[in-house]
Amino acid sequence: MTNPQRLRAATPRWRRSLAATLAAIALTATLAGCDSPGTAPAQGASDRPVVLTTFTVLADIAQNVAGDKLEVQSITKVGAEIHGYEPTPQDIAKASKAQLILDNGLNLEAWFGKFVAELDVPHVVLSDGIEVMDITEDANAGKPNPHAWMSPVNVQHYVANIRDAFIELDPENREHYTTNASAYTAELKALQENLLDGLAGLKENERALVTCEGAFSYLARDAGLKEKYIWAVNAEQQATPRQIVSVIEFVKENQVPAVFCESTVSDAPMQQVVQGTGAAYGGTLFVDSLSEADGPVPTYLQMIRHDSDVILEALAGGTK
Ligand SMILES: [Zn+2]
Repeated sequence: MTNPQRLRAATPRWRRSLAATLAAIALTATLAGCDSPGTAPAQGASDRPVVLTTFTVLADIAQNVAGDKLEVQSITKVGAEIHGYEPTPQDIAKASKAQLILDNGLNLEAWFGKFVAELDVPHVVLSDGIEVMDITEDANAGKPNPHAWMSPVNVQHYVANIRDAFIELDPENREHYTTNASAYTAELKALQENLLDGLAGLKENERALVTCEGAFSYLARDAGLKEKYIWAVNAEQQATPRQIVSVIEFVKENQVPAVFCESTVSDAPMQQVVQGTGAAYGGTLFVDSLSEADGPVPTYLQMIRHDSDVILEALAGGTK
């Protein structure tokens, strides 16, 4: 649901202001002569167009395409619960000054529709073009599963959408965005190949991904794994006894050796599954947020590598 009309309408505004800023910088540089060669670039850097994303994962992916030409930020902070997030007045003030907003779509950001309705800023939906999977269980059954970014195959579409949005926003740097997008797409393809290579050695009962949130549907589809989860999206987080029993039955029936939960929610419900089955608790997976820069997954590529390492080690390691 890209909104090209609003994108086109809003684009000239920043171009005009950027042109004015550049003219001002040029004038300052001329007046300053050769005495302060360092000041002009610093001034220019702070005036880069601002691109806001709804969460940290999208910010990192977009940053890889933007390089040093745009200022990419995330509305939600590291570790935030993104499904049920409530934007603050500061978020809205910040977003109103952005030149472009990138969101995931697929109903991920339940808060986002109202948020952008209050803003006169163009936005682009990054999941456009992927093959959507519907949620199959609980109250959300039939709605699209929002976690498309968990498959590097899908993220190649995200990158193409980001590239096109950046070129429309800033056509002068078309080549820069195209080159960056191609390089990052090559990394995504290598990431997917490594993932499949690693999983290829798993036995049949080990090819099952049991998690708190149904965040791995796309990854499981694209990597040939079975999938079972307690709840569909983390906005709920209150496991019903029926949901727990259903997961316990799946683990027993398929003799799944290990189960997992995600970094942004409590693993208590999954520990009940561990107690009820004897499966190992395989570890914490990252889905809805990256870590801080000094944490285990400061980038998207590291997040997928981390998750696949944790999954492989726990599933191939057998019972505790
Ligand atoms: Zn989620």
